[in-house]
Amino acid sequence: VKQTVGFVGLGNMGGPMSERLVAAGYPVVGFDLAPAARERLAAAGGAAAETASDVVAQSDVVILMLPNSDIVESVLTGPDGVLAAARPGTLFVDMSSSEPLRTRSLAEVVDAAGSRLIDAPVSGGVKGAVAGTLTIMVGGAEEDLARALGVLEVLGKPALIGGIGAGHALKAINNLMSAAHLWVTSEAMLTGIEFGLDPNVMLEAINTSSGRSGSTQLKWPNFIVGETYDSGFGLSLMLKDMKIATGLAESLGVPHTLSDRAVEHWSAASGDLGPAADHTEVARWLRERENE
Ligand code: NAD
Repeated sequence: VKQTVGFVGLGNMGGPMSERLVAAGYPVVGFDLAPAARERLAAAGGAAAETASDVVAQSDVVILMLPNSDIVESVLTGPDGVLAAARPGTLFVDMSSSEPLRTRSLAEVVDAAGSRLIDAPVSGGVKGAVAGTLTIMVGGAEEDLARALGVLEVLGKPALIGGIGAGHALKAINNLMSAAHLWVTSEAMLTGIEFGLDPNVMLEAINTSSGRSGSTQLKWPNFIVGETYDSGFGLSLMLKDMKIATGLAESLGVPHTLSDRAVEHWSAASGDLGPAADHTEVARWLRERENE
């Protein structure tokens, strides 16, 4: 018999992830503040609950795919926190890109309430969520991961990175790199375009050269050259991740000079483009600033 999987947060990522679990034969019960997200899960064959506590009361494993640590903490331990509704030994899997040091503290609270927590943030975007090819960076106890392994393997490739919070640390570090790459890639690509080079010709050459990155292999070809800017990963979420990584560097005494500049630039774009912008729109924002 397959475990019942609870799913809180059915947005750009949680939506397709929960639907994959339904398709794989898991009983899935989900909740999101947005009614449309709940309806989508129900239409896909899952069960939509009225509250997050209703989800948790019915589940063996509960996946959280929420925007940030503030929201993860409030869902678990806030006034209507779900911890109280959990059966003893319930395993919570925070797949959001949360703050590693807060995750460590939260795990102690979860433990004290008789449940368990691991962190399992992902890379691979909406495309990876739909296809079940996410990279899943797990932090926590091996025996807890073992209980969630079958579920996580439906979503992608889980790997144990270290103790609790390790996944969240690595995810933030990855996204700081990714964001800095995208910014410099966009400045460099716009320079080539302004010189008269064809962007597709440039990308083909760069993708077998040392300047390549996810920004040249995926983001520019898929979302920027065609000006669709529809990666499904919000600019504000990227900025949140960059601040998690630079905050971690600061708290550990590691230099973060160039990283801070990247945060400043991304913050300026975020301020102009607003909370609904896709993160790939930084390239459009930069192009609009040409010749100013
Ligand atoms: P999203 O904004 O599309 O989805 C978040 C969902 O959480 C929304 O549907 C929202 O209604 C819901 N929500 C907010 N507060 C809630 C609450 N208190 N109770 C229940 N539901 C609540 O975000 P997303 O793109 O799915 O990202 C989720 C997490 O995954 C973030 O931490 C993000 O940084 C990370 N992430 C996103 C991507 C991507 O490509 N989109 C890739 C990797 C990681």
